[in-house]
Amino acid sequence: MSDASEVIVIGGGLVGAAVAYGLAREGASVTMLDEGDVALRASRGNFGLVWVQGKGDGMHEYASWTRRSKDLYRSFADVIRGGDGTDIELKQDGGLELCLGEEDFRANEDEIRRMHNQPGVGENDRVMLDRADVLKMLPLIGPEVTGASYSPHDGHVNPLYLLRGLHGGAQALGARYVSGAQVRKIEKDGEGFSVSTKVGAFRGGKVVIAAGLANKWLAEMVGLSIPVEPNRGHILITERMQPVIPMLLVNARQTADGTINFGNSHEDAGYSTRINPAKLAEIARSVIRSFPVLKDARIVRTWSALRVMSPDGFPIYRESESMPGAFSISCHSGVTLAAAHALELAPVILRGGFNERFAAFSPERFDAAPAA
Ligand SMILES: Cc1cc2nc3c(=O)[nH]c(=O)nc-3n(C[C@H](O)[C@H](O)[C@H](O)COP(=O)(O)OP(=O)(O)OC[C@H]3O[C@@H](n4cnc5c(N)ncnc54)[C@H](O)[C@@H]3O)c2cc1C
Repeated sequence: MSDASEVIVIGGGLVGAAVAYGLAREGASVTMLDEGDVALRASRGNFGLVWVQGKGDGMHEYASWTRRSKDLYRSFADVIRGGDGTDIELKQDGGLELCLGEEDFRANEDEIRRMHNQPGVGENDRVMLDRADVLKMLPLIGPEVTGASYSPHDGHVNPLYLLRGLHGGAQALGARYVSGAQVRKIEKDGEGFSVSTKVGAFRGGKVVIAAGLANKWLAEMVGLSIPVEPNRGHILITERMQPVIPMLLVNARQTADGTINFGNSHEDAGYSTRINPAKLAEIARSVIRSFPVLKDARIVRTWSALRVMSPDGFPIYRESESMPGAFSISCHSGVTLAAAHALELAPVILRGGFNERFAAFSPERFDAAPAA
């Protein structure tokens, strides 16, 4: 049948595209089905951080997985460039989380201490810097900045180039991309699966559900409960400016063209992507406390987008036990984890042993504990 492939990937965001790319690199025939512009798409509205510090507080496997992805990123960027020529503008020169006031400083210190006491790698190089140290890196900080936590592992990319490079690279390796293909039904069909979409049916030996927030209902069709919920974030972009922020911050980054991006807000607003002016003002106030020099900067663009959030903030990966060959992949840091998804997770989908390899990320961790 012409519409049959070894693997169908549902979702063409950063998670689906990274997995599709990784599968195609392994030589699998892949069809990526994507709903298109009408869908909610975190991958087109995010901040672009490849961020390590603070990731995995409470789950050392996630700290290690994040660090692994970061370590793979340089060669991953080269692989993408070799695929379709896209430069994803990766920079991994370290990053800072500024502290405003003593309480903030102590909270970061406590997090470092907690994570040092966890097994696994990921946090061992993160340190606290006092105000004098931060001033050497960022001479324009305001008087309220008490210090910062610093990790040499943090970095960033241009997230739209990353998405484009993954799509281009997957297609250069023979993957088929079908846009406008909103998936409506997933059914077992002999040894494989039949996936019904708005534009027709597709057959695949395996099916990977990587459709962001839509995993919640799509994964139910293969017997999986994936409790992801939306979490809204806003981003503000300034006009092009002289260098103000020479270091990468968790909530601010000055791009090569001089614009400064601010973000890192979290809000429970259901599925609404409307702009909340009060949230924009809150972000701007915090930025001006950190860098008073920005008080007259002109904001030229803002948007909001929805994160794909699990109850504990960690990824959820699972192969269905009732329908083996059907996988669900969700996470809230799809930029950071793109390298690990493409180079390490995708091959396990083909080779087997998925649930053993990713046991820590099973949705069963959310099941209620049995009564004593
Ligand atoms: C404001 C903000 C800032 C962020 N900053 C960062 C950051 O700095 N670093 C980082 O690592 N992460 C960041 N993230 C998170 C990151 O963007 C997401 O983890 C990632 O984009 C999730 O990708 P995804 O493919 O799972 O979901 P999405 O990007 O939402 O993509 C889902 C895809 O599935 C498709 N789809 C949905 N339903 C169907 C269906 N029924 N049939 C077919 N296709 C379907 C959609 O068309 C869409 O393309 C941020 C997110 C937000 C919102």
